[in-house]
Amino acid sequence: MFNKLTIDDYDLLGKKVLLRVDFNVPLNEQGNITSDKRIVESLPTIKRLQEKGAKIIICSHLGRPDGKPNPKFSLKPVAERLRKLLESPVFFNGDLVTPENRKFINNMENGEIFMLENLRFDPGEENNDLNFAKKLASIADIFCNDAFGTMHRAHASTVGVAKLLPNCIGLLVQKEITMFDKILSKPQKPVLAILGGAKIKDKINMIHNILNVANKVIIGGAMAYTFLVAKGYNVGASTIEKDKVPIAKMLLDIAEKNHVKIILPVDHVVAQEFSFMADSITIPTSGFKANDIGMDIGMHTIKLFKNEINSARTIFWNGPMGVFEFDKFSVGTRKIAEAVAESKATTIVGGGDSISALSKFGLEKKITHISTGGGASLQYLEGNGLVGLKAISDKIEV
Ligand code: AMP
Repeated sequence: MFNKLTIDDYDLLGKKVLLRVDFNVPLNEQGNITSDKRIVESLPTIKRLQEKGAKIIICSHLGRPDGKPNPKFSLKPVAERLRKLLESPVFFNGDLVTPENRKFINNMENGEIFMLENLRFDPGEENNDLNFAKKLASIADIFCNDAFGTMHRAHASTVGVAKLLPNCIGLLVQKEITMFDKILSKPQKPVLAILGGAKIKDKINMIHNILNVANKVIIGGAMAYTFLVAKGYNVGASTIEKDKVPIAKMLLDIAEKNHVKIILPVDHVVAQEFSFMADSITIPTSGFKANDIGMDIGMHTIKLFKNEINSARTIFWNGPMGVFEFDKFSVGTRKIAEAVAESKATTIVGGGDSISALSKFGLEKKITHISTGGGASLQYLEGNGLVGLKAISDKIEV
């Protein structure tokens, strides 16, 4: 059970609270927010802080601006959405800690909200730079971390600032941790992980972690092609990460050593162009021609994966099985989502795309726990704890 300080352990009347949230929302080409779930999930904490009379300074990262200001990753649209959802003002001027902002914050009324610009516009954020953490700490009395999705990262706004201010966790983190503790203190076996999506680069640590927890791992989506190449298959023009083939090989070796069964697709819906209108055929793994692009898993694979889902007792799913944004290639992801939803196992779904898929197919209510943190939930699941959570002070038992 967690024993970290929470919002309710503090008298916050008139106090300036630096609230770290995870507003790393998906944006489309036009810069519009395509899912505001992460903003909605933070509302209970913001409202509780308002009720307690705190002055709220919200901070978050968005995307990967690599330590430089970049209008494409501004939190302006997020501040606007938050304003609409809360139906109350959210002050935002596109800056981090400046003398003007400091003055503004010092003059805030109780319950008012100010939002800083994207933390990753400063290189100090991702480097967990002490001076940047000190700057953040200097505008607040108390630090509250409610960014479950970034709890596994040691950044200035997660770990750095927690060392400099009295601190606590927010309601979302409290909810996630309580849920994970309940479900995973003794996970029912067999534990099945279903991993998909495109970027192995982003998920290496996650896959590595899961090999310590799961009995079986299904790999679908574009990621499967890099693993198939690692096993010596030709995958035509499918999306692969060539430089990650050695890592895929290494992960396959670790799985074998840990007696974890890795299950890869056996057939594929392929097209000749990456388009929502492309003609397609289904081929076995051994049947790729040079121009074939794997867009989705085939029916035999769906059957194979469903059998594994039906015999699992704990299921963790992260990442789509194909290019599910194109209806024509969403069948594999939908069938797997349905099988996970219908399964009697304890089911945990993490990661933005799997959550979008569940909501696209109307299956959210049938999942035991939908986590706002893909990487963080896996790290927590492995049992090593989360650096951001460790940085928060423990309750003192009296
Ligand atoms: P990620 O950001 O790594 O979680 O990957 C999610 C993305 O993977 C989604 O946008 C999917 O369209 C994409 N994806 C899944 N399967 C494939 C595939 N076979 N080829 C290309 N992209 C894919």
